[in-house]
Amino acid sequence: MKIGIIGTGYVGLVTAVGLAEFGHLVTGTDSEVDKIEKASQGISHIYESDLESLLKKNLKKGKLTFSQDLDKTILSSDVLFVCVNTPQREDGSADMSFVEAVSRKIAENLNHYKLVVEKSTVPVRTSMWINRTISLYKKSDVPFDIASNPEFLREGSAVSDFLNPDRIIIGVESKKAREIMLKIYEKFKDRVLITNIDTAELIKHASNSFLALKISYINLMSEMCERTDADVGLVAKGMGLDPRIGAQFLRAGLGYGGSCFPKDIRALTKIGEDMGVNMNLLMEADRINLERIGVFVEKVKKALWILKDKKIAILGLSFKPETDDIREAPSIRVIKELQEGGSLLRLYDPEAIENMKAVFPEDPPQITYAQSAYEAAKGANALLLITEWDEFRNLDLKKLKNLMDNPIIVDGRNIFEPEEVRKLGFEYYSLGRK
Ligand code: NAD
Repeated sequence: MKIGIIGTGYVGLVTAVGLAEFGHLVTGTDSEVDKIEKASQGISHIYESDLESLLKKNLKKGKLTFSQDLDKTILSSDVLFVCVNTPQREDGSADMSFVEAVSRKIAENLNHYKLVVEKSTVPVRTSMWINRTISLYKKSDVPFDIASNPEFLREGSAVSDFLNPDRIIIGVESKKAREIMLKIYEKFKDRVLITNIDTAELIKHASNSFLALKISYINLMSEMCERTDADVGLVAKGMGLDPRIGAQFLRAGLGYGGSCFPKDIRALTKIGEDMGVNMNLLMEADRINLERIGVFVEKVKKALWILKDKKIAILGLSFKPETDDIREAPSIRVIKELQEGGSLLRLYDPEAIENMKAVFPEDPPQITYAQSAYEAAKGANALLLITEWDEFRNLDLKKLKNLMDNPIIVDGRNIFEPEEVRKLGFEYYSLGRK
C-alpha cells in the first residue's frame, strides 16, 4: 500500500514521517518547492523535537520520499492523506479552496481505486463536497472512497503525539475504506474509534472548540479574581481536582493563539450558524480570548504610565512553548500595541525569532532582537513574559534584576510566584492574582 501525503506543513510532514515510521511506504508532496527540497535532504522546515532525526532515518531506509510532482504522487498512491491548510476567511469560515484544488487534482489523476483521507481540519459535511468534486471532475469511472482521520497532534510534542496517540478517530462509510484505515493504524487497534464521516469531522472541531472554551472560562474567572481577593491559580487548582473537570487547559493568562484554536472555533461557529444553530457560547469564548491582549497591555500601562520611548524586553514570541510557530501568536498583537504606543522593543524567543522577523523586521531602536533573555532585559524599563518556555521559568532572576533599569515584570502566563519575585525586589504584575 503506497501512501501519498499532500501538503507537508506542520501536520503533513509529521504525518509523512510518522506513517513511514509505522512501516508504510510514503511519498510527501507540497506546492512549496523549498519545503520538498529541504525534506528530501533530511532537513525539517519546522522546529519540532525528534522530527529531523526520524525524517533522516526513514529517508535512509527508503520508506519515505518527497516529490514536487503532485500528479505523479497521486498516480502512484493507493491512499492520499490531504494535509493542506484550511485557513480562516474574513467571515470566520474555513477557506476550503486548497482542499478543493487538491480534490480536483485527485479527480484528474484517478487511475485506480484510491482512498482519500481528510487529515486537515475541515467543517462537518466537507466529505460530501470532496466526493462531489471528484465525481464531477474525474475522467474515468474509477471508484474511490473518502475517510476522515482528524489529527490531534500538538505542536511542540507533535512527533510523540503522532507516534503515541491517545485516540485515532476514523470516519468511514465503506467496508474497504474501514479495512484500509485499520491496516494503516494496525498498531493502535485498541485506540481506534470508528464513526461515520460527519461525526469524525465534527469530533475535531468540537474538541478544539471545547479546549478553547475551557481556556476562556478560566480567563473569565481570572477577571473575577482581578476584582476580588481570589487567586485564579488556586481557583483552577481547586476546580481541576474534580476529575469531571480535570486540571488541564485551566491556566489563566494571555489566552490561546496558534493556527488551530482561533480559526477552528470561528469555523465551527460559522458552520453552526449557517445551519441555524445558535452558536453564542463559542462566540463569547472567542470574545473573551480577544480581550486578553487588552487586559495585559493595560497592566503594562499601569506599570509604565507612558509607553513612548520605554525600553521593553519581550520574552516569548511563539504561540506556545516548544515550537517556532507564530501563527496567531498573542505576542504579535502585544507587540503591535506597544509599537503603536512608541515603545522600544527588544524581542527574544528560543526558536521563533526568524519567523517573527518576517512580521516585524529589525528596525532599531523600535524593534530589535536579542540573543538571550538576559540580553533582552539589559537596560529595560520592564520585562514582559508572553510565552511560558521552560527556559524562562529557570531564569536567574537576581541576574535579570541587575541587568534591568527598572525591575518590573508583567507576566502574561503566571509562571512566577508573586511572593518570591517581589522578595527579590521586582515590581510584579500577573493575571488574576495579586
Ligand atoms: P501548514 O500551512 O503548515 O501546511 C499546509 C501545507 O499544505 C503547506 O505546506 C502548503 O504549501 C501545502 N499546500 C497547500 N495547497 C497545496 C496543494 N494544492 N498541493 C500541495 N500542497 C499544498 O498547515 P498545518 O499547520 O500543517 O495544518 C494543516 C491542516 O491540519 C489544517 O487544516 C489545520 O487546521 C490542521 N491541523 C493542524 C494542527 C497543527 O497543530 N498545526 C493540528 C491538527 C490539525
